[in-house]
Amino acid sequence: MSEQADNPCLTCGACCMSFRVSFYWAEAPARGLADAMVEQVTPHIACMAGTNNAAPRCVALGTGQDGPYACGVYPQRPEPCRELQPGDDKCRRARYLHGMPPLSC
Ligand code: SF4
Ligand code: SF4
Repeated sequence: MSEQADNPCLTCGACCMSFRVSFYWAEAPARGLADAMVEQVTPHIACMAGTNNAAPRCVALGTGQDGPYACGVYPQRPEPCRELQPGDDKCRRARYLHGMPPLSC
């Protein structure tokens, strides 16, 4: 998820409510993510807490100052969140799952 004042992500958040956001466990302490934000999946893989649920929703979504669909740990967000870009395939899939049209960008 990207985060700029004119970014559609700030009124969306669909990708943070659609997929398991998993990464190598050591990324969490390396980025300074609080333990409460992370769930262990396997001995080597962790994920953002809440994203391994049947109805995924990252616990960090909406916990910051920028509204209910903004990432509350944006500077510490893990690599999958950095890779996903507005308008890419995962964005389109997430928005579809939440009844939103693809971005026109
Ligand atoms: S689904 Fe796309 S538009 Fe929505 S928050 Fe994620 S990257 Fe942004
Ligand atoms: S860490 Fe932030 S960008 Fe990544 S899934 Fe959670 S709320 Fe979304």
